Amino acid sequence: MDTDLAIIGAGASGITAARMAGALGLTSLVLEASPRVGGRVYTDQTLGLPFDAGAAYIHFSNRNPWMREARRLGIETRLWRGFTHFQMMADGKPLGMASGERRSKAFEAFWAHLDVLEQAQGETVFDQMSMADGARPLTPEGQAALGDMSRLGLGDQPERISLADYLEQWHGPDHVVPVGYGTLVAASAHALPVRLSTPVTDVETIKGGFKVQTPKGALTARAVIVTVSVGVLKAERIRFKPSLPNTVLRALDGFSMGALTKVALAFDGGRFGIGVGEDKIVMDAPLGSMTFEMWPYDRNLVLAVTGGDAGRALIEMGERQAVQEVLRIFSAFAGPEAHRHFQGGRLAGWWGDPLFEGGYSYAKPGAVSARQDLHESGVDGLYFAGEATCGGRFGASMTVAGASYAGWDAVNRAARFIQSGAVS
Ligand SMILES: Cc1cc2nc3c(=O)[nH]c(=O)nc-3n(C[C@H](O)[C@H](O)[C@H](O)COP(=O)(O)OP(=O)(O)OC[C@H]3O[C@@H](n4cnc5c(N)ncnc54)[C@H](O)[C@@H]3O)c2cc1C
Repeated sequence: MDTDLAIIGAGASGITAARMAGALGLTSLVLEASPRVGGRVYTDQTLGLPFDAGAAYIHFSNRNPWMREARRLGIETRLWRGFTHFQMMADGKPLGMASGERRSKAFEAFWAHLDVLEQAQGETVFDQMSMADGARPLTPEGQAALGDMSRLGLGDQPERISLADYLEQWHGPDHVVPVGYGTLVAASAHALPVRLSTPVTDVETIKGGFKVQTPKGALTARAVIVTVSVGVLKAERIRFKPSLPNTVLRALDGFSMGALTKVALAFDGGRFGIGVGEDKIVMDAPLGSMTFEMWPYDRNLVLAVTGGDAGRALIEMGERQAVQEVLRIFSAFAGPEAHRHFQGGRLAGWWGDPLFEGGYSYAKPGAVSARQDLHESGVDGLYFAGEATCGGRFGASMTVAGASYAGWDAVNRAARFIQSGAVS
């Protein structure tokens, strides 16, 4: 065998797996389709002002391993001020305190309703429910608030997302990384055995392990860790021989990929009377509400975020038109001079990228065991990792932390398998 472990994908999961493999004395090779590491954690520098095109927040930073990694690498992190301060806007003007208060009350009512349901019927009551089902008793304005949280937090419309899956997720304080979360993750990959621009097309079980095929040739490994997104697996971009067991195919059916989407706008220094950190959420943006993070780290940059069908609509426009559309929405509150000071923009359209097929995974209503079922590939020596597989014990799916825990867990399982002598 060429290596103990072939790791497919050099995102947070694959990078963590490769670091762990080294620590356990296993040889590994990471095969990455794109010409860079980091996957959905990527600090885009093309506007001359760095911004995180994918993950930006070190979620639940009190237990997130990337806080330790940042300290090890000497990379600064800062506590994020949270999301509740975003000023609500409509028709180019602030909506006033009452709307914000009604919104907070809607979230309280949502949680109170779930408590009542659980006390009456037990926690399995949520298994078949969507986020929208959970919000059903709220006022229309309350349901809209939940819808925004769903699209902007989870990346898709509330009627598509399993409530039970959402309730499994960890919560806690967020940290941010001034030089970029992507910069941190890329630094962590330094000196790891990564082959870039090497897409895996086929994984075949052979005597003693696996043959992993790429356009640059094949390699053999005792065990394989697959970290590509469930979107990529569902699109069958990698063929498995023999084909994957039905349990895995059913698990994949239980997932969709959300469409969290960012647009970065760079300006020449004009700030339109808006201060650093005076972030906005535009409630009446034509495609669906959109947040604007203002001048992060005092950079001449505005970061717009939307999700779900609004994100998909932007991506379908193509980068040029999407940037113009977001600039137009921005100008409605910043003023027409925004166009004069505009320098350039970028669309981070993960849902339209065949290497990702979306922002991150969510389970569909009813698919309560999808994450666990994917975790067990049913094939000795073949392990799925990546953010989608991290549920249950590590309630961190969808996130960089979850992807990393899953990579770590997959290497441990692979090490036990290899050391058990089951491969010859
Ligand atoms: C806009 C956006 C914002 C987000 N915000 C946050 C946040 O603030 N905090 C947070 O924790 N998480 C956030 N996330 C989610 C987070 O980015 C992901 O959960 C995490 O990065 C996934 O890591 P991964 O290693 O599982 O997968 P990936 O990062 O997708 O890594 C898989 C790798 O496999 C590669 N690949 C694909 N196909 C092949 C192939 N055939 N052969 C070889 N390689 C292949 C891909 O190029 C990729 O590099 C966000 C995601 C998006 C899109």
